[in-house]
Amino acid sequence: MTWLERLKTMEQETTILKESHSIDDLSQLRLTKFTNQGLNLKDAKEVTKRLELRDIQKDDRILCYECNHLKGIASSWRCGNWRSAEVGIKESFSGLPNEIVNLLQRCNGFKKGYL
Ligand code: SF4
Repeated sequence: MTWLERLKTMEQETTILKESHSIDDLSQLRLTKFTNQGLNLKDAKEVTKRLELRDIQKDDRILCYECNHLKGIASSWRCGNWRSAEVGIKESFSGLPNEIVNLLQRCNGFKKGYL
């Protein structure tokens, strides 16, 4: 099965999300999640590889892509927990530049999503 066929299957079969345990599956799930968030496939693969490396290195930093509070889509990201994350002083300043979303960081507002 090609990765594209697998991605299509995963999008249709939500039960796979609950049953995946291997690193291979995690990579595929991340790819699916990130493309669903609006990243193109090239960028989604890059983010997935960065997270794989982070996991191997046992780095405790996170990416906004993993956070339940990340809102919007690629290039118009917003933080839904801007106050705790200290992103701005009011909601209208909750926009997140791509540089921040793509930065491995420690964030007080982070809440882990399903991946
Ligand atoms: S709470 Fe932190 S990690 Fe989550 S989206 Fe906002 S800035 Fe990113």
